[in-house]
Amino acid sequence: MKINFLTQILIAFILAVILGAIVGPAIDIVSPLGEAFLRLIRFIIVPLILTTLITGVASSGNLKKIGRLGGKTVAYYLVTSAIAITLGLGIGYLFQPGEGVQISEENIETPVAEEPDSFVDTFLNIIPTNPFQSLVEGEILQIIFFALFVGIAIAAVGEKGQPVLRFFQGFSEIMFKITGYVILLAPIGVFGLIAPIVGEYGLSIILPLLKVIAAVAVACLLHVAITYSFAVKAIGKMSPITFFKGIAPASIFAFSSASSAGTLPITIKNVTENLGVSKGTSSFVLPLGATINMDGTAIYQGVAVLFIAQFYGIELTVMQLLSVVLIATLASIGTAGVPGAGLIMLTLVLTNIGLPLEGIGLVAGIDRILDMFRTSVNVMGDASAAVIIDRSEPLEEDTPPQPS
Ligand code: ASP
Repeated sequence: MKINFLTQILIAFILAVILGAIVGPAIDIVSPLGEAFLRLIRFIIVPLILTTLITGVASSGNLKKIGRLGGKTVAYYLVTSAIAITLGLGIGYLFQPGEGVQISEENIETPVAEEPDSFVDTFLNIIPTNPFQSLVEGEILQIIFFALFVGIAIAAVGEKGQPVLRFFQGFSEIMFKITGYVILLAPIGVFGLIAPIVGEYGLSIILPLLKVIAAVAVACLLHVAITYSFAVKAIGKMSPITFFKGIAPASIFAFSSASSAGTLPITIKNVTENLGVSKGTSSFVLPLGATINMDGTAIYQGVAVLFIAQFYGIELTVMQLLSVVLIATLASIGTAGVPGAGLIMLTLVLTNIGLPLEGIGLVAGIDRILDMFRTSVNVMGDASAAVIIDRSEPLEEDTPPQPS
């Protein structure tokens, strides 16, 4: 009997939860399975993005169109992030997760605040001084920058650029093939990632902070059910069910790995194969999203800020709340798509509105669990962008015909 891929992943997930709960911390022996899978996925990322994006841009070859595509993508990302953070704050008010929380002070470690790059530096950093170094170090924004230029120049060069284009086309196909092979192992990866987490987090860590977890989970669910459903239906003309089903493997893997950057090859594959988005659009919108679009992280920042304020009995003013929306939107842009990055960025938000940094220690113990929810939303947000942007600005000449 052949079990379909999504069912395989779900079975692996449930099995991991059951075994993790029964065996406890000793289940950690399976963690190399998860780590091996993560490494396999990561090795695909750089060559996949580079070759697919170059191919997409070169075949489109239209500078204006690429500019429009970029503008729309960034605008969508900013708007959804601002909605996400507002939702996080709203749910934080409703749930009052900081009321009546008992945490012994010794569990609270004072975190070291990160010095974030200045606004100007962040932008300057997008321009690579050595594109090969960017490739080696996996600097996604720099790679996108380089690929855009190469793609545009290939188109401009004309005939002489064609062999190079064909090379990248072939290379990109090969990377998709490899992604296909690796993804077959996703159920094993999910099992290896989830079981140790369930084994490690006993109920004793989770219970006192259950309200925080519930608040983040509910806000994430609402954002996905309302914002993304609306966006894919109204703008992308796609049934939300088709969307959620198509992106499910990537969402589950994001949940398991807590890394949207690490999920990227699966997201690209799901979006192109299950949702019919062109490879060119996906290879631009998705890596950009995995780097700058973090709706789940924004939601989490909102809930966490209210939780910490409530815990310390601090009333936030309307001005402070508004600055949370602004700063958390910017902070979510600066958050890397790796596990725990959102927690570090929370220091930035807390410092900016003058809340005690020690508050980080309150949520640090359950960060991994919150991270799972937010990363899953981060990935779905990127995928929703790919669907709607592809409707208006598909970046590929051989886009499959859309049903009229
Ligand atoms: N882990 C998240 C991600 O990869 C980022 C975060 O920590 O919020 O998308």
